[in-house]
Amino acid sequence: MAKDAYDVIVVGGGMGGLNLAALLSKEGKRVLVLEKAGPDQLGGRAASGQAGRSAVDNGIKGLILAGTQDEIFERIGKKMPENVCRWTNQGQLYMNGEWRKVDELVRGTIKEFARVYMNTATEWSFDQIEEINDISIEEFAQQRTDDPDVIDFFRYLGWLFGGTMPEPHDYSAGSLFYSVKKQMDWLGRFPSQSYWVKGGSGAIAGPLVEAIQENGGEIRTNCSVSRIVIEDRKVKGVAIDQGQRRVPTELLDTTVIEAPVVVSAVAIWDIFNILNEDDLTPWYADRLKHVHRKTLNLLTLTYGHDNHELWDHSGIRWVQKGPVTGRPWCASSLEYSDTDEYEATFWIQMGWWEKPNIFNIREASHRAALEKLFDDWAIEIEQLFPGIVEQAKWQLKSFGPATIMETPGYVGPSLPDVEAEGIDGLYLIGERTASAKVMGVYGAAQVALDACDRIMKRG
Ligand SMILES: Cc1cc2nc3c(=O)[nH]c(=O)nc-3n(C[C@H](O)[C@H](O)[C@H](O)COP(=O)(O)OP(=O)(O)OC[C@H]3O[C@@H](n4cnc5c(N)ncnc54)[C@H](O)[C@@H]3O)c2cc1C
Repeated sequence: MAKDAYDVIVVGGGMGGLNLAALLSKEGKRVLVLEKAGPDQLGGRAASGQAGRSAVDNGIKGLILAGTQDEIFERIGKKMPENVCRWTNQGQLYMNGEWRKVDELVRGTIKEFARVYMNTATEWSFDQIEEINDISIEEFAQQRTDDPDVIDFFRYLGWLFGGTMPEPHDYSAGSLFYSVKKQMDWLGRFPSQSYWVKGGSGAIAGPLVEAIQENGGEIRTNCSVSRIVIEDRKVKGVAIDQGQRRVPTELLDTTVIEAPVVVSAVAIWDIFNILNEDDLTPWYADRLKHVHRKTLNLLTLTYGHDNHELWDHSGIRWVQKGPVTGRPWCASSLEYSDTDEYEATFWIQMGWWEKPNIFNIREASHRAALEKLFDDWAIEIEQLFPGIVEQAKWQLKSFGPATIMETPGYVGPSLPDVEAEGIDGLYLIGERTASAKVMGVYGAAQVALDACDRIMKRG
């Protein structure tokens, strides 16, 4: 390969990497995306597989507040896949032994709700909102109202925006209002802000891949980067191993692909597999490690059905305290009208700092604790949604890192910058950098937009 055949190499073909590569190739940059998984896993945590006749997502189910994703599609001239979300905004909370509809909760207390929630979202500037990054939504609500329904509404939002969280109310007020304000700014401009797309979340990767290839970009799958090569505080390219390792100690031939700009678009827990800590400025490396320690893991149970009566499909459910597990979790469902099937999906998030250390699953005792949690949880789900577990046609159980964690102190400027300090040509994207500000795919898209602008400014 000729030297510098590429302007930019993107390591990782998740939503962050694909979004950035699509934007840069549209701008005329010669881009190479390297993804360690196979072609069907492009999209990373947002890829989808198949169970029965339904699409089953690796991770994300719905794009919550997906405006930035729409903005990228607009810029690259692609259409978002069809929205199949039919929520009627009747999310429900299971509290003190009963289900309560969120909109009824709010309707009963509308003036107070408008004063505390709507006024902040509409009247505050983004700079003012940034100042409440380090305050939890619960604290924010409690400082402004005594109304218990408004406080509960904020707790529910802690789930909706930040995942279930080990402590669902421990979500940054700044991050919450940043998303809400952005969404309000976009009203009328983009077709839909929160949706589930036909074909599963993996369907979103398709148009991005198309855009990259149409604009001369290249994507190599089954291609694992072993190292980002940095010399004299300047990026040189990436090293990839050739061949397949039969034993862990086997040495493989390494090829270096050169480029003046390399973007790490891998998740935070994979960063130090491809970056040598000593190559980074110490405080920048420390900050990455610190953020990694806040990683959340997700336990997911998905059930496939053909009995629509088992669920009203009207919105997201949140259980504040499960009657068997004692843990908060959330649930949603998806109807596939074309196949007459539906899925009900349940999530529990756990911080890896939680005890017992259930994440060390190589140890038998921890694996057993995790299995017990899944079993208790299935009993609880059946109690709250009779028939869901018993009548399921298929069931999927999964467990893995998610990093949805916009907790106070872990938003905006307190996170590492997209440009790796002191290293020319190295960029780190993904939802854990400062410009993300908000969760998930929306955060990953926002970082891609920012990184694209900065890389284009280099010329
Ligand atoms: C169960 C679950 C539920 C979620 N729910 C939602 C939701 O409802 N809404 C929402 O917006 N977000 C949700 N998220 C979060 C969302 O999926 C992620 O924020 C987003 O997909 C992250 O994209 P990314 O590109 O930054 O990372 P990833 O998708 O993790 O992509 C990183 C890619 O890098 C590749 N890679 C790693 N190492 C190498 C290497 N050495 N060489 C080459 N490639 C490499 C990986 O294979 C992967 O494809 C959820 C996540 C999970 C796990």
